[in-house]
Amino acid sequence: MNTPSHVILNLALLGRQSRSQMNSPIIWGALLPDLAMFGFYAWAKLVARMDEATIWQEVYYQPFWQTVFDVGNSIPLALLAMGIAFWLGQRYPQWRSGGHVIIFLAASVILHCLADLPLHVDDGHRHFWPLSNFRFESPVSYWDPDHHGAVVALVELSLVLIASWPVWKLLRSRWLKALLIGSIGLMGVAYVGFYLR
Ligand SMILES: [Zn+2]
Repeated sequence: MNTPSHVILNLALLGRQSRSQMNSPIIWGALLPDLAMFGFYAWAKLVARMDEATIWQEVYYQPFWQTVFDVGNSIPLALLAMGIAFWLGQRYPQWRSGGHVIIFLAASVILHCLADLPLHVDDGHRHFWPLSNFRFESPVSYWDPDHHGAVVALVELSLVLIASWPVWKLLRSRWLKALLIGSIGLMGVAYVGFYLR
């Protein structure tokens, strides 16, 4: 899925008004699996000055970069972080609130991975790294029109629109609310531009 969708849907599923202090870990957990990719793109574009085709058809698939992307998309690593945070919180009460932050961050990472798993054809990640190199090749893509991308993108946009009201009520900061409206607007424009032209 697209990064803003992950943030909005994860907030809707994991966030509660009674624990709005967990909004930040949920937001960062939803962003984390895609952060390496943004770093990679910024480096390839601005530092190495590659063209789009080289970036996405060659360098993106190099084993080194694939491993970098897989670290942030690993369900076992997120579960491990969750387990350690839970254990520390049980054992040392003073670390309990910090542990909760890690648990929500990791839960959001896992939710991101579970949402991506069925929606990538040949650009998916090794979600079970380092335990397994298995890479699920889905018949359905979140973007590629040759693999039902137009339908999936419409479903994704609809879910985001449905989630936007509970998320709006959840957000405390004016900046985040503005970002929410901006992202939904951009996604709508991107959908129309990409699929309805
Ligand atoms: Zn992702």
